[in-house]
Amino acid sequence: MIIAVDGPVAAGKGTLARRLAAALDFAYLDTGSIYRAVAARVLAAGGDPQNHDEAVEAARSLGPADLERSDLRSEAVGQAASKVAANQAVREALLAFQHRFAAQPPEGKGGAVLDGRDIGTVVCPDADMKFFLTASMEARARRRHKELLERGEKSIYARVLQDLRERDARDSGRATAPLKAAADALRLDTSEMDADQAFAAAMAEIERRLKLPGL
Ligand code: C5P
Repeated sequence: MIIAVDGPVAAGKGTLARRLAAALDFAYLDTGSIYRAVAARVLAAGGDPQNHDEAVEAARSLGPADLERSDLRSEAVGQAASKVAANQAVREALLAFQHRFAAQPPEGKGGAVLDGRDIGTVVCPDADMKFFLTASMEARARRRHKELLERGEKSIYARVLQDLRERDARDSGRATAPLKAAADALRLDTSEMDADQAFAAAMAEIERRLKLPGL
C-alpha cells in the first residue's frame, strides 16, 4: 500500500507522514531530503544550484551518506533544493530511487508513505491514498519560524515569510512536476489544526477509504 502526502513548505507533511508510517508500520521516505541532498552537494562544491550540469552531476552521483548530511534542514539548502528541483534531468535521475522505495519498501514493510510535492501526481500516481496538505502562508511561516528557533537557529519572521513565498512560487510555477494536488487527493487545511488533529483526520480517512477498521 502506498500513501502519498504532498503540499507546500511547512504545511505539516513530514510530521503527518512520519506518524502515519509509524501507526501503520510502513516505511517512510521524505523525498524533499533527496532534493536537499543534491543541493547541499552542489553548494559544498562551491557550485550554483541553477547550473544545469552541476545539479545533474550531483543527482546522478548521490549516495546514502549524502542523505545523512547535517546541513540538510537549513533554509539555504531548502532554497537551493527548490532550484535544483526545477531541473527536469535532476528529477528524472531521482525518480528510480523513489519508485523502488515505493514498490519495495525497505525492511520488508507492507507499505510506504512518501511525502513531497509530486508524489500523488508523478512519482506514485496510483497511490492507494493521497493527501494534499495546505495551510495559510502565515500559519506556515509561524510554524517554520518556531521550528528554526527551537533548533537554535537565528530566525526573523519576516524573512521566513519571504522565503516561503519565493519557494512556493518556484515550486508551483516550474514547468516540470509543479506542486499541485492530484485530482483524487484529499485536501487537508491544517491552518487551525495541531499535529494530533491532522493525524486523526488523516487516519479516519484512511480507515474510511481503505476500509481498514480498527487501525
Ligand atoms: O519538503 P522540503 O522543504 O524538504 O523540500 C525541499 C525542496 O525540494 C522543495 O522546495 C521542492 O522544491 C523540492 N521537492 C520537490 N519534489 C519533491 C520533494 C521536494 O520538488 N517530491
